[in-house]
Amino acid sequence: MSTPSKAPVMLGLEMPDVDVWSDRVVVALGKNPGPFTGPGTNTYLIGTGSRRVLLDTGDGRAEYLPVLEQALERAGCDGLQEIVLTHGHPDHIGGAADVIERFGPLEVKKRPWPEVDARYPIAITAIDDGARVETEGATLRALHTPGHAQDHLCFILEEEGALFSGDNVLGVGTTVIPSQGGSLAEYLQSLETLLAAAPGRIYPAHGPCIEDGAGKLREYIDHRLERERQILETLGAGASRVPAIVKIVYAAYPEALHAAAGQSVTSHLLKLEQEGRVEREGAEPLTASWRTA
Ligand SMILES: [Zn+2]
Repeated sequence: MSTPSKAPVMLGLEMPDVDVWSDRVVVALGKNPGPFTGPGTNTYLIGTGSRRVLLDTGDGRAEYLPVLEQALERAGCDGLQEIVLTHGHPDHIGGAADVIERFGPLEVKKRPWPEVDARYPIAITAIDDGARVETEGATLRALHTPGHAQDHLCFILEEEGALFSGDNVLGVGTTVIPSQGGSLAEYLQSLETLLAAAPGRIYPAHGPCIEDGAGKLREYIDHRLERERQILETLGAGASRVPAIVKIVYAAYPEALHAAAGQSVTSHLLKLEQEGRVEREGAEPLTASWRTA
């Protein structure tokens, strides 16, 4: 069913509200489609027992709770064991309070990011790199993978050698490196960490399941290095400010995405600056004048 209010970008792709992706993984859509969330946030019921782990919670809209109920029914379980969050962006943490109200009380585990977590009326149980979350039929192992967000955790599903990639790898579109809490240098390091974990499948936070996880990670790393090359080339050709670079490098993309692209270009420039490969005049990266060093 199509609805008239759908955002036009990255939404060619329709996903069912609930789908079974493996013996221990059922996906429930957060019902929050948009230019940066694709078909919406994937929330996951994980395990095989009567109470499942819920990974991520959508952004808190009312349409999600019936979908989650439908997913619990489809999974053949009675309820939730606990909530685990990949990171504190609104489309992952925003639904937690509603889920607790409906299915709780439930513990919420994530890597703390105090100034962001404080916006939500939930108590956080701190977990970090290496933490294990166990439920019947599934064991999750946390990997701290900053870059998209400083608190970001990915999770290896040990029984399948699969990876819950959160926003670090998406089934649709590419990851945005925001200026607040983001770092491209850290992000690339995180992609290498994930590649070293040699995942088979990737279960992303947005878009469909990725069968060749390692191949997709290599593609993501290559894509960023190619962007970096293009940005250096554009600087060499005389463009010096972020909007001008965006216009050239992202010429094929809709203008609605240019603000996000500006953040991405800025992230690249900051990484190159750290490496001593570019310099700027002006304190504000987004409005500074940049040149190759
Ligand atoms: Zn995010």
